[in-house]
Amino acid sequence: MLKVVKVRLYPTPQQQQLLEQSFGNCRWLWNYGLNLMNQTYKQTGKGLSGYDIKKLIPQLKKEHQWLTLTYSQCLQQVCLNLGVALKNFFEKRAKYPRFKSKHGKQSIQYPQNVKVAEKHLTIPKIGEVSAIIHREIEGKIKTVTLSKNCSNQYFAAILFDDGKPQPSSSIEGKAIGIDLGLTHFAVTSDGDKFDNPRILKKYSCNLKLKQQQLSRKQKGSNNLNKARKKVARVHRKITNCRKDFLHKLSRRIVNENQVIVVENLNVKGMMRNHCLAKSIHQVGWGMFCTMLKYKAEREGKVYQEVERFFPSSKTCHVCRQQVGSLPLDVRNWTCEHCQTTHDRDINAAINLRDQGLRILTRQSPQVEPLPCGGNPRCGKWRGKPAHGAGSSGTGDKACCPDVSRSNRGRKKSTTTLSVGQEAHTDP
Ligand SMILES: [Zn+2]
Repeated sequence: MLKVVKVRLYPTPQQQQLLEQSFGNCRWLWNYGLNLMNQTYKQTGKGLSGYDIKKLIPQLKKEHQWLTLTYSQCLQQVCLNLGVALKNFFEKRAKYPRFKSKHGKQSIQYPQNVKVAEKHLTIPKIGEVSAIIHREIEGKIKTVTLSKNCSNQYFAAILFDDGKPQPSSSIEGKAIGIDLGLTHFAVTSDGDKFDNPRILKKYSCNLKLKQQQLSRKQKGSNNLNKARKKVARVHRKITNCRKDFLHKLSRRIVNENQVIVVENLNVKGMMRNHCLAKSIHQVGWGMFCTMLKYKAEREGKVYQEVERFFPSSKTCHVCRQQVGSLPLDVRNWTCEHCQTTHDRDINAAINLRDQGLRILTRQSPQVEPLPCGGNPRCGKWRGKPAHGAGSSGTGDKACCPDVSRSNRGRKKSTTTLSVGQEAHTDP
């Protein structure tokens, strides 16, 4: 299994200069290659591949002596990355590659020959750079990416193969549904509510002050640079706080559960609402989902997304009756059909969990038919708690395996199925 560990580097001033040179060279080569590709396409209508640029490197080194100061494999890697970037564009996975700027984050990649010791990394052409290796790095090192952020901190992201196979995933165990929101960052089907830390709000005064100071500085002055670093420092603090919160919460959820169901949010679409855009942007749902996903996959757990059009809030999780409209300010509501009072968010989370389990059991091949023959009208199916109330999980997933049949001619969302359903009250 491939793993990445990002460690902090502490290069000496001399090493910093060497790194700076390498960042610059690689950036120059990327921009040169991209420009050449654009020009060739305009003139001939044909594209160049990353390999075509790679072949030019020896010639370029003769023209520009300073290119030889950088480790050759880093330069080759730039060409390959450029090729991948274009491929991703043509296969509609990404936008067209952009020119790299000398401001902002800088990085270079070493495809091999970096050695990791206890307290330092040995990097070709740069030497031994002291580092804090806070995790064990066992196995074959693949790629090492060195980077520098806006506040002059250096990092190395070490990609390595630990040689262990990826654990096979199973849906046997506790399941959880998570409803993401703004007032509460996350509400789980277990009834836990996690507050939105609102980190940006906490630091907004400080950020505003530093940005004002920056705006008053003269262009090109030394004080401008100093002020710029101060702004970067506040941004860094905000990012670190947010990451810390997201890592801790996602770790806890993955540790406690086997199946994790989340709503597939259209963050880009929601950002169009400019009143909420800032709050949505800073809350970090996307990063949270990514963390849940990779943490779950590493441990053989299942991460499942549910379509965002699934009416999770409007459906009663007990009798699966849907209400017509539910304004956003209604936090509690009572189902007309079964008279259960719901907390809006917890009900949504439970619905998400059940829907996720339904999707998973539909996909899962090891489901065996039950004596009831999957008949949705059989007694077992109707609302009786098939397993201890309050427990979730997929204990009764075999009850109605043939979902597609019972589903015919009806909306998916309104189909009644007992998979993981908590039936506290019989209708
Ligand atoms: Zn109901």
